[in-house]
Amino acid sequence: MKKKFNFFDFYFYYLKLILPRFFQIKNPKIINLFKRKTIEFMVHIVGQKCNLKCKDCCNFTPLMPQIFYSYENQINNLKKISQCVNIELLQIQGGEPLLWDKLEDFLKDILAMNFVKNIQIATNGTKKPSPSFIKFLKLHNQITIRISPYPGVSDKQGNKLYEELTLERINVGKHLFANASGDWSYLGGPDFKELSPKEGIYNFNNCVFRKCLTLEDGILARCSRGPTAYQVQKFEPYKNDLFSFKEIFKNDYEFTKKFLGYVFNPQPMRACNFCNGTNGEPIVAGKQFRKKEWEESFKAVNFLKIKS
Ligand code: SF4
Ligand code: SF4
Repeated sequence: MKKKFNFFDFYFYYLKLILPRFFQIKNPKIINLFKRKTIEFMVHIVGQKCNLKCKDCCNFTPLMPQIFYSYENQINNLKKISQCVNIELLQIQGGEPLLWDKLEDFLKDILAMNFVKNIQIATNGTKKPSPSFIKFLKLHNQITIRISPYPGVSDKQGNKLYEELTLERINVGKHLFANASGDWSYLGGPDFKELSPKEGIYNFNNCVFRKCLTLEDGILARCSRGPTAYQVQKFEPYKNDLFSFKEIFKNDYEFTKKFLGYVFNPQPMRACNFCNGTNGEPIVAGKQFRKKEWEESFKAVNFLKIKS
């Protein structure tokens, strides 16, 4: 079958890759015009299922449906991204990603797309990977494990896992959170009273998480709180807060243009008006909900649907 002319392929594969090589263009300014862009860091959330219920979880995980998202949709969204940018470091988050039985296949599929240089799996350290997954990690040293040890909650298991993975010669590290002290910054709870837009802009501009571009279930946000905050804190996001993969795009070119426009033009979200950012006071990391307290908070959350 004859392949249909596609402007997108022409632009990226011919103008950006082949032409500069053919004419041996060496001027960095001209090369930059042609070069495929790179996202330095992106978070991908595979689902909100978690075996802990951290009261101050910055993503509101315990208050979200305890599921992993559709494998197919996640792969399709990443495929779309792979057509237009490279990613230097993709961080896989949950919930707790090591609870997902499709994680190994998912990572294999991402590596096969050949657009991600390094992958990091963020875990709370409570779930030991299966022997087959350990074998897989040993074969792929571009994948690292990042363990978050919460005092009195996951620190013993996390430290044990750290030692076991080190012995297996797997790339593993411990995470001491945004301020590197072992404490969390208190971002604020579901009942946070909205700040003025000016304060929201200040919080965004001074927040370490503003660099954590996050994709969750077809929604791209500036940080990992972005895709859940509007659902849990019950507000309508501003028009350009989020980029939805569920939108209908006329063609690949339109998707690419809008996607790159969102990624490389960071703006505060309305979620920043409902958040202290990393200016929040230091709190003990990973403090757990009491059962009744969690039940009441969970019941109080009504889910809004985003217009796409
Ligand atoms: S912070 Fe706690 S509740 Fe939130 S995803 Fe991590 S382990 Fe789960
Ligand atoms: S201030 Fe904004 S960017 Fe920072 S964590 Fe809060 S919502 Fe995310």
